[in-house]
Amino acid sequence: PNLSDIPPICLLPLQVANQIAAGEVIERPASVVKELLENSLDAGADQIEIDIEKGGIGLIRIRDNGCGIREAELPLAVSRHATNKIKELTDLEKLHSLGFRGEALASIASVSHFVIHSHFYNAENGYSLLLNTLSDEVIIEPVAHPIGTTVEVRELFYNTPARRKFLRAEKTEFGHIQEIVKRLALSRFNVSFNLRHQGKTTVSLKKTDDETSRLLRIGSLCGTEFMQTALTVSNENSAMRLSGWISPPSHARGQADQQYFFVNGRIVRDKLVNHAVRQAYSDVLYGGRHPCYVLYLDIDPSEVDVNVHPTKHEVRFVQSGWVHHLLVSSLQQTLEQTRPQATVNIAD
Ligand code: ADP
Ligand code: MG
Repeated sequence: PNLSDIPPICLLPLQVANQIAAGEVIERPASVVKELLENSLDAGADQIEIDIEKGGIGLIRIRDNGCGIREAELPLAVSRHATNKIKELTDLEKLHSLGFRGEALASIASVSHFVIHSHFYNAENGYSLLLNTLSDEVIIEPVAHPIGTTVEVRELFYNTPARRKFLRAEKTEFGHIQEIVKRLALSRFNVSFNLRHQGKTTVSLKKTDDETSRLLRIGSLCGTEFMQTALTVSNENSAMRLSGWISPPSHARGQADQQYFFVNGRIVRDKLVNHAVRQAYSDVLYGGRHPCYVLYLDIDPSEVDVNVHPTKHEVRFVQSGWVHHLLVSSLQQTLEQTRPQATVNIAD
């Protein structure tokens, strides 16, 4: 640059800072659905209604029956770095919520037309918050709303054309949304989920509380073949607990598209997990085949770092060797059940 016109350093306007933060976590409509559903679950909801129009590009509306938000705190809910889930960094060591960054609503609101309606559980009234993105003003008004929260996101990326250009066909975007709903429905059996696209129901799951109805949910999300053939995994030691279902080698697939691993109720992608699963199946699976699994690891929150990436899809285990070992040994033990019993010929 020309030394005479080096621009001065300026603080970015709030709206611009929020839009930049949104770039990290809000990639497509499904990212909005993920963040909003996580908030509903963190609020203790056990009934969640999801309405989508035009693959989520037109409308994403999520209604829950969680605790709601106090009227006075509505503006904070849509402010960056505002959360009621942690107070200091060390709180992450005892984190039981999915959220903690306090950025999602501020990010989403900065790249859409955004309205939130909420009725705090012991308040008399519900209130709505409307955000004027041009003036940064918030408008709060009383509304009729049952206890809980509804967030409405319209015209996603209307003001960020670069991002909007990367969106795929509505059908494809809706496919991504269905996948997110599937993952969250697999993570919380005690919550009912209803998903509608253009008014038509595509997912309808009642909350479940026993093993049979859990298996039925697995069947409707992962297919009846997986449900009927899956082997049950259940193992624990003093530090952690592994449970869930895995496919027998005979029902592996050509693609690694039915693999779900949850750590303390959070879906996670992890190289260590992939490696452990491959190792456990190595003797029984032909190359190029992929097992299906839905596995849940429950572990002390201080043993896992969730603050690795803004989307919170990655974690780091403090004792990664222990996790790897528990996985390999539990899966191997489970797979043993499928081996034909060795036949012993006693010579006469
Ligand atoms: P985070 O989830 O990381 O705290 P968010 O931006 O997603 O950040 O949400 C900000 C805050 O707004 C949350 O901490 C919570 O207090 C409140 N909130 C958001 N969604 C809901 C909801 N559906 N029900 C109740 N409270 C909510
Ligand atoms: Mg959140």
